[in-house]
This record gives sequence, structure tokens and C-alpha cells, in this order.
Amino acid sequence: MDDCIFCKIVDGDIPSRTVYEDDDVLAFLDANPLAPGHTLVIPKAHHERLNDLPADIGSNVFAALHDLTPAVEDAVDAPASTVAFNNGEAAGQEVPHVHGHIVPRFESDGGRPIHALVSDRPDLSDEELDDIAATIAGE
Ligand code: 5GP
Ligand code: ZN
Repeated sequence: MDDCIFCKIVDGDIPSRTVYEDDDVLAFLDANPLAPGHTLVIPKAHHERLNDLPADIGSNVFAALHDLTPAVEDAVDAPASTVAFNNGEAAGQEVPHVHGHIVPRFESDGGRPIHALVSDRPDLSDEELDDIAATIAGE
């Protein structure tokens, strides 16, 4: 994609601090880090959302996340990390090229857990939960 920032990083047209690379995956430091070591893991091919990723590329992205998470934590002496994807515009995705964030976390960083993502939680009945589970499961 010509106007995609992350495709430009893959092509070397925009510099990045690369921490890992293989045939399908690139990982580099976030230019606007939430913490020291904040790393982005992307497929080299342009896919907008996780939903669009071919299964084998998704597996390779996850394998890189799996290997890099302890390396990132160790590099900055972090006791924990938040690993997440903003998957789609409504979820806050700003760069429309799939990327996983590895954000090192510290006891005193003032950050919050995934459960702080939304302020208006739904109050779902057992029946609604059953229906949703069945729909996801394809029943
Ligand atoms: P999103 O909100 O789409 O999940 O996250 C996009 C991330 O990409 C942000 O954390 C932002 O700081 C990072 N980012 C945007 N442009 C660049 C860039 O040119 N280089 C690097 N290394 N990171 C970028
Ligand atoms: Zn792209």
C-alpha cells in the first residue's frame, strides 16, 4: 500500500529501530512509546485488521509476539507487559496495517488493565450470554 506508514517501514522508506525480522514479520520500537521498550509487531504484507490476516501469517505474527515479549521485558527490566491489538477504527486503531503492541508495564506506571478499556459495561442476561456464545461457536 503506497500511503501506508508501516508498509513504508517494511520497504525501508521510513527508518525504524528494528528488533526482529523474518520473511513475514517485522518488529520495531514504537516512535511514540507508552513505556521504554514499547514494540510493534507487524506482518510485512499489508493487511488492515487481524480479521484479514491469512492463518499462516497470523501464526507467524503470534510466534514473534511470543518470542519478543520476554525479550522486551528483560531489555527494560519490566516485571510485566500488556500485549494487545487495536483491531479496527472503533477500537482505536490509527494505523490501518495490523500491529501488535508489546507495552512493558511497571508497578508505578499509572496504567490500567484491559478491563479499563470501556466505561459503559453491558449488563447481559444468562440467555443473552448463551445466545452470543452459540453464535460465536457457529451453532
Ligand atoms: P494504533 O493506535 O494504530 O494501535 O497504534 C499505532 C502506533 O504506531 C502508535 O503507538 C504510534 O506511536 C506508532 N507509530 C505511528 N507512526 C509511526 C512511525 O512512523 N514509526 C514508528 N516506529 N511508530 C509509529
Ligand atoms: Zn501497510
